[in-house]
Amino acid sequence: MVTTASGKKRGWFGRYVHWLHTKWPAGTVEKLPDVAPDGTTNVNGLYVVGDLTGVPLLKFSADTGAKSVKNILADPSFQKRTQNDNVIDVLIIGGGVSGFAAAIEAKKAGLTYKLLEASEAFSTIVNFPKAKPIFTYPTDMTPAGDLQFHEKSAIKEGLLEDLNEQITAHNIEPTYARVEFVKKIRGGIFEAKMAKSNVTHKEPMAADIPDMLKAHRVIVGIGRSGNFRKLGAKGEDLDKVYNRLFDPKDFTGKDVVVVGGGDSALEAAIALSTNGANVSVSYRKPEFSRPKPENVDKLNMLASNPSLDVSIEHPTSERVTTASGSFMREDQVKETCTHCGASLVGQPTEGNCPDCGHHYRKFEGALQLMMASKVKEVTEDSITITNSEGQDESFHNDAVFSMIGREPPLDFFRRSNVRIRGEWSGKFITVMIFFILFCFWLYHWKGEKAIPAIGMLQNVGQKVESVTGLNFIDEILSPDPDSILNRWFGSMESMMGDTMGSVMEGMKDQRGTFGVVLTSAGAPAFYYTLAYSIIVVTFGIRRIRRRRTPYIKTQTISLMLIQTIPLFILPELVLPILGYHGFFDSGASAWIADQIFPIVEYGHGREYWRSYGFILAWPLFVYNWFTNEPLYAWLLIGFLQTFVIIPLLIYRFGKGAYCGWICSCGALAETLGDMQRHKMPHGPKWNRLNMVGQFILWIALFMLLLRIIGWIFPSSFIGDLFYVMFTGKVHYESWPFFLKPIGLLLQVFNYQWFVDLLLAGVLGYGLYFMYSGRMWCRFACPLAALMHIYARFTQFRILSDKKKCISCNVCTSVCHQGIDIMNFANKGLPMEDPECVRCSACVQSCPTGVLTFGRIDRRTGVTIGKDKLAASPVQMVEMSVNGKKMPKRVEGLMNRGKKMDQ
Ligand SMILES: Cc1cc2nc3c(=O)[nH]c(=O)nc-3n(C[C@H](O)[C@H](O)[C@H](O)COP(=O)(O)OP(=O)(O)OC[C@H]3O[C@@H](n4cnc5c(N)ncnc54)[C@H](O)[C@@H]3O)c2cc1C
Ligand code: SF4
Ligand code: SF4
Repeated sequence: MVTTASGKKRGWFGRYVHWLHTKWPAGTVEKLPDVAPDGTTNVNGLYVVGDLTGVPLLKFSADTGAKSVKNILADPSFQKRTQNDNVIDVLIIGGGVSGFAAAIEAKKAGLTYKLLEASEAFSTIVNFPKAKPIFTYPTDMTPAGDLQFHEKSAIKEGLLEDLNEQITAHNIEPTYARVEFVKKIRGGIFEAKMAKSNVTHKEPMAADIPDMLKAHRVIVGIGRSGNFRKLGAKGEDLDKVYNRLFDPKDFTGKDVVVVGGGDSALEAAIALSTNGANVSVSYRKPEFSRPKPENVDKLNMLASNPSLDVSIEHPTSERVTTASGSFMREDQVKETCTHCGASLVGQPTEGNCPDCGHHYRKFEGALQLMMASKVKEVTEDSITITNSEGQDESFHNDAVFSMIGREPPLDFFRRSNVRIRGEWSGKFITVMIFFILFCFWLYHWKGEKAIPAIGMLQNVGQKVESVTGLNFIDEILSPDPDSILNRWFGSMESMMGDTMGSVMEGMKDQRGTFGVVLTSAGAPAFYYTLAYSIIVVTFGIRRIRRRRTPYIKTQTISLMLIQTIPLFILPELVLPILGYHGFFDSGASAWIADQIFPIVEYGHGREYWRSYGFILAWPLFVYNWFTNEPLYAWLLIGFLQTFVIIPLLIYRFGKGAYCGWICSCGALAETLGDMQRHKMPHGPKWNRLNMVGQFILWIALFMLLLRIIGWIFPSSFIGDLFYVMFTGKVHYESWPFFLKPIGLLLQVFNYQWFVDLLLAGVLGYGLYFMYSGRMWCRFACPLAALMHIYARFTQFRILSDKKKCISCNVCTSVCHQGIDIMNFANKGLPMEDPECVRCSACVQSCPTGVLTFGRIDRRTGVTIGKDKLAASPVQMVEMSVNGKKMPKRVEGLMNRGKKMDQ
């Protein structure tokens, strides 16, 4: 047994799960409106700019703001608008960097516009901590439009001066009003509804602003500030509950509770305790995972000894507005005994009063951590917290700092009918249900009547046929391609007469390409694989065009080639042609073909489809192993693949060498699924679901054992058991009565249709547009599950340059394996979550170029290499410095921003 930080015991299974999947950071992704890279939304004419598009950086905000006006000007329906005095051209909501950048652009273009601001101009920046250093990433980027960042923008005060000078020069005046929502009325015009009162305003509300404002186009740049998240505890509305810390000295000697586990909470707690407050930090999780390690270290130091020299000169959180530290302590030192008033000058910092013996501490500050706890109730002078044991603890309390994050202003968007990412409308759910039903049908058809439930429907169809002579159900559910082709050819031949008929007959000669295709086309799998390959190639080309890094190009070409050549052309065309031309009739080639493509009565006369096994390894592709008779050649090839080649590949390049570069499931996920990647859910609960694949892997291993025993004792019960587990097609009626229920269950939950068709096919693809293309790969694939174990021993890492990381969470949000990459990056830790498939989305999307694929020495942790293939625009620049000139398109990419995933 091992004890966790929260005091819980962990058994061997818990330790295994922790080692493999649950020990990694599992942060979630903030919900944002669904915005296209050009700022457009599902509401035609409403643009979203700035932080809400995904990358929370000043330069991107200015860039998106200015570009939105350019997009509006280029919109033909805007150009044809009917000018009307009551309807302005553009309404800009939010006076931040993006809003002002848009306003400057609108003014330059001679549009009528209004910029509405709820609080004060650049209020987000005004609220930054004093003297906060400003990083204007990406350094090489010049935002579109006139709002730029000059040298003086290196600290907060200079930045504000710089921005204010520019808006004054352009004569841009905001109007102070809070917009509640916008709605579209007749004629494509928008109406903006103003709030009656403006609780957040610092500037007086505009007196002349009407209740409703009409505009042809709306640009929303209201930032992510939104509302502070609620504690969900009784009494949280009391005046003593704060969301920001202005002056920690106000709380010297007070009993304060800080709630939260991020940098804001930790910086507030450190500032308060170093200023003499008695602080309790309450956090709902057993460990801190989000804040910077240095903040956690400082907090732990103060918890063990509150008089240690700990300071925060530059708070990173805008909720903690002043620097703090031991340098502020001079005026809080208690030099007289609080009990008898005797002088303590010259006495140690803590001890007993020489006059009255009262225990004193010269610094009142103290800090205690209450991990895995939750605030239950706040009253005027006390607080009740449920501790990690589930018990309620009540104690004296003067103030509470609730630092548990903010909700982005989603209400504004919901009320304005703008879609929020990850929230499904009724229409979307209906479409998805039909898509899943389609997948049911597809896999039933492809697997040639594979799904039992659909088979039952077909029985109904046959009964209808016996009465009516018609069987529509059978035709729809399982059309036979062979008969369709024959019908088609029959009618072509009769249409074309004798001469053409004999030409067609010649074309059907199986030795020719056309004849081979015709025979292959007699099986549904042919059409399925053809469609699959076309999708991979089409969407692969789109991916290359969209992401434009050498890594993406090479990776996508590899996926397209593997899908089309060994997984389609080889078994459907090349091998049959070789076979028809006698290549496998004699000599060594005949012997090899007999071992790997056994002779059969159907199709091309040999099982060429087994060549999938060259690419798809066991236990993803089980059909070369789970055979009636052992196919020794395939067992040898498969063994080398699964237990020698793949582990070696993973040791050097990580699991992504297979999942991201070779596998056909990966090929579809990286091409068709490229724009769906942000839909993968994140968080600890989902990470636990990763164990489903382990479960399937252990079942596959168990079945392999049964299979081997079945081969050795062919007529044994074990052989039967394997067969029913695998196919569900065995008569269990003769089994002992206590095993019959298992037999019945296995008929439904057999490996072939439950894992291979339902999980990998129907749900894996059916949920593509709901949860991204890697549902099967992340949660259920047994080969991935095996590779996760190998990947725990890999040298592969995603390395990060911690000082460049701005904790924007873009990397985490685009990871379709649900990895919380930011939590490694902002601590400078090499990312080692075994789930990574090397898709490079995080590396390529990071706006500041923090991440690089590389390798470490597993013993020392030292970096031993970085990928030569540039996977991000930043690397493309760096890699071209030593050698060739930076390509023009790279400069373009840097400037355009890396927002394809947003
Ligand atoms: C602590 C902190 C440090 C940062 N440091 C950096 C840094 O070093 N470098 C960097 O590049 N970026 C940094 N950023 C990010 C940067 O501040 C943002 O990218 C930028 O301010 C976003 O601009 P915006 O126009 O999208 O939104 P904001 O600047 O947030 O402006 C939104 C405006 O809209 C107003 N508003 C909100 N709701 C309404 C409504 N309903 N009606 C009318 N008005 C409304 C708000 O009052 C606000 O003024 C930092 C952010 C924070 C919080
Ligand atoms: S490369 Fe990045 S985005 Fe892709 S799976 Fe790995 S961590 Fe996730
Ligand atoms: S590593 Fe991630 S969190 Fe850090 S800057 Fe890059 S995208 Fe943002």
